[in-house]
Amino acid sequence: MNLKRKTLLRDIGCLVLAGVVIVGLYMYLTASSLHFVSDREIEINSVVDFSKFLKDVKGGDIHDVKIDSSAVNVKKIGEYQVIYKYQDEEVKLKVKVVDTTAPEFEVQTQSVALHQTIDPSKLVKNIKDASQTTVNFAKKYNFNQIGEQEVEVIVSDEYKNSATQKVKVKVVEDKKAPVIIAGNASVIVGSTIDLKSLVSIKDDLDDKPTLTVEAGQFDVQKQGSYQVKYLAADASGNQSEKTIIIQVIDKTGEDEKVVYLTFDDGPSHYTPQVLDILDRYHCKATFFITGMNSAYRKYISIAHDKGHTIGLHTYSHSYSKVYASVDAYFKDLEKVGQLAKDYIGFVPKYIRFPGGSSNAVSKKYTKGIMSKLTKMVEEKGYIYYDWNAENGDGYAKMSQSEMYKRATSSSAKKIMILMHDANGKQNTVDTLPKIIEYYQKKGYTFKAIDDSSIVPHQHVNN
Ligand SMILES: [Zn+2]
Repeated sequence: MNLKRKTLLRDIGCLVLAGVVIVGLYMYLTASSLHFVSDREIEINSVVDFSKFLKDVKGGDIHDVKIDSSAVNVKKIGEYQVIYKYQDEEVKLKVKVVDTTAPEFEVQTQSVALHQTIDPSKLVKNIKDASQTTVNFAKKYNFNQIGEQEVEVIVSDEYKNSATQKVKVKVVEDKKAPVIIAGNASVIVGSTIDLKSLVSIKDDLDDKPTLTVEAGQFDVQKQGSYQVKYLAADASGNQSEKTIIIQVIDKTGEDEKVVYLTFDDGPSHYTPQVLDILDRYHCKATFFITGMNSAYRKYISIAHDKGHTIGLHTYSHSYSKVYASVDAYFKDLEKVGQLAKDYIGFVPKYIRFPGGSSNAVSKKYTKGIMSKLTKMVEEKGYIYYDWNAENGDGYAKMSQSEMYKRATSSSAKKIMILMHDANGKQNTVDTLPKIIEYYQKKGYTFKAIDDSSIVPHQHVNN
């Protein structure tokens, strides 16, 4: 071999070697230091330590990796990106939020009518799951024999996780007819009305009793008083009926006859009874609340949810306190406003002064305070209501017949009746149905105070 050729070969060898070294070095320098585990799933609603997806950090420590998991919503199924940063390196890792947990639930025994069936969801309660669940029977059951029977219910979630439990049902003979709950009603002439919406039916065993209406002469286009008959039947064939009077009344606005029932001083242990009566007659009313009876505060939200209006009547209802000064009044009013907010989500603007705006008792504590307060509450955006009728339950020793007489003495088209929802007002509760019936027969509807209501103001005496 000649010298030239040897030198050439050596040079080529050197070049190849250098190339290998450079490529190796490049691969070494650019290889990722972050190594991840292959299972990157997160159970829905769990608490996640995102460092658990890191297997190791080459030449470093897991604690030196900065993790940004802000894009992940562990409350929602889906695929998300988590960013891992280590020195100059950044890796975007895809992780999945999954639901593999079966629903948890309790079972409860229920009765089912002979030869009928029952909605399986009535046999379970307190279902716990991250997604929507459905309840089914494990198979088709027949309830053709009086007595106890064991069935299996399956609760499944949206992600095909499910759990099964056994529960007993009592198969009984159904002899009770459905109850039709309805009061007399009035509708505006020419309006669209579904007569079925005026009543509700309840049955002890049948969730969906049938309801039929015999409308008779009823004509929503013509003013007048009509008898309408409702018939209800349950799946076992028990039937009941109820006839109500529906008034088709003049157009809305000035000619409409409206009663605004207002209950001051509650909530109290009478509130649930008052609410039941209002439901029964499909009436809405207004409650001017105080903060004094803390045991019954849940009725503030219950009343509001039923469509009644919550107004404010001051927190303490103590004359010496609220009328001690203008500041004292507003402090007390704002306190009951916050209380209302806790239960209904906002501070009501409808208010009533303890004793009404015409009270003279306040003179004893601050001269001229009512003249100031009546102006100032309006400046602050409140609207204060007195009344133009009362049942007199604020006075001592008012008999039921006297109460009824007072409450039904008005013939105004818009009547705001003062009543009380407080200790010792049993007569108020007992006379309420008759008072409602009286006005409903005369074509009045019962409404809760809103911005369209009348605002009765009495004469300010202090
Ligand atoms: Zn009061």
